[in-house]
Amino acid sequence: MKVAIFSTKSYDKEYLDNYNNEVHQLSYFETALNVDTASLALGFDAVCVFVSDKVDRKTIEILAKNGVKLIDLRCAGFNNVDLEAAKEYQIKVLRVPAYSPQSVAEHAVALILTLNRKTHKAYNRVRESNFSLENLMGFNLYGKTVGVIGTGKIGSAFSKIMLGFGCKVLAYDIFENAVLKEKGIEYKSLDEILAVADIISLHCPLTPDTHHLFNKMAFDKIKKGAMLINTSRGGLINTSDAIDALKHGQLGYLGIDVYEQEENLFFKDLSGSLIQDDLIERLISFHNVLITPHQGFFTHEALTQIALTTMKNFTDFENGLPLENEVK
Ligand code: NAD
Repeated sequence: MKVAIFSTKSYDKEYLDNYNNEVHQLSYFETALNVDTASLALGFDAVCVFVSDKVDRKTIEILAKNGVKLIDLRCAGFNNVDLEAAKEYQIKVLRVPAYSPQSVAEHAVALILTLNRKTHKAYNRVRESNFSLENLMGFNLYGKTVGVIGTGKIGSAFSKIMLGFGCKVLAYDIFENAVLKEKGIEYKSLDEILAVADIISLHCPLTPDTHHLFNKMAFDKIKKGAMLINTSRGGLINTSDAIDALKHGQLGYLGIDVYEQEENLFFKDLSGSLIQDDLIERLISFHNVLITPHQGFFTHEALTQIALTTMKNFTDFENGLPLENEVK
């Protein structure tokens, strides 16, 4: 099958080529897929995309006209694909539903520990021969209350790690997970969690229901000085409201691996450019904000699983097999 791989980075090519074994004809494009680049897919059976590709209705129209029959996401989230339009144009959408949930869960923990114990600041200080402890004080995680929003694959893995730290874990989800309840995790309403949690970590998908779940109203309800961690999708947080909450000390710490307007920034080296996004610039200026560029998934184990599932998706589709990873 001929596949156009968009938003290619060196590691995508390395892992996909390694697990393809020259079965499929893979062509790599560094550019993201969007309405302006969709014509590159002319003559391909499938496109393979990632989180920063914009597969909206207009893009899908062009893909369909060019003969593309499959949109394969090499990620779990699919909020960047217009599923209605894909269905209308009879283009199948496949994804990688699970690829090491631990990679993202452990990254969420890394954000918590770094924000709390300020190891990033200590590292820089010590390199300058500054061995002072001023402003490096953190807090014990043991005994703290952690709120987990969304207890699917990643939220479950995260909850178990936090139990290991000796935290009290409260969860909010539209479905309760019986295994987590057996382990001592209590399901509560979102408002109950906001009121008591010292740390809140977001692990639900971005949907119309969860868009800006954390807005001014939610920030007004959180425990003053709480920490908010988002490794899920940027749109879960209203960034302007988060900035206001940080300015007033209502939000004590913010750790994000995802950002509402990340498609213009993340996965690119912009160190020689003037950043036009004033919201991210303001966030970067806070000492109690930690931003990582959507690297939660970025482990050897996760990239291996992504490549394996992506190849299986191509092969299943080409051979007319049941599409286990179809997004409907
Ligand atoms: P999942 O589908 O296993 O779990 C999502 C959970 O959210 C489910 O339990 C679901 O019931 C719950 N949920 C859905 N709507 C909800 C709502 N309105 N309120 C509360 N809970 C709700 O997904 P997952 O594999 O755990 O991934 C979670 C998210 O992590 C993905 O949607 C994706 O956006 C993000 N993600 C980020 C990275 C990264 O690199 N940072 C990598 C992979 C996934």
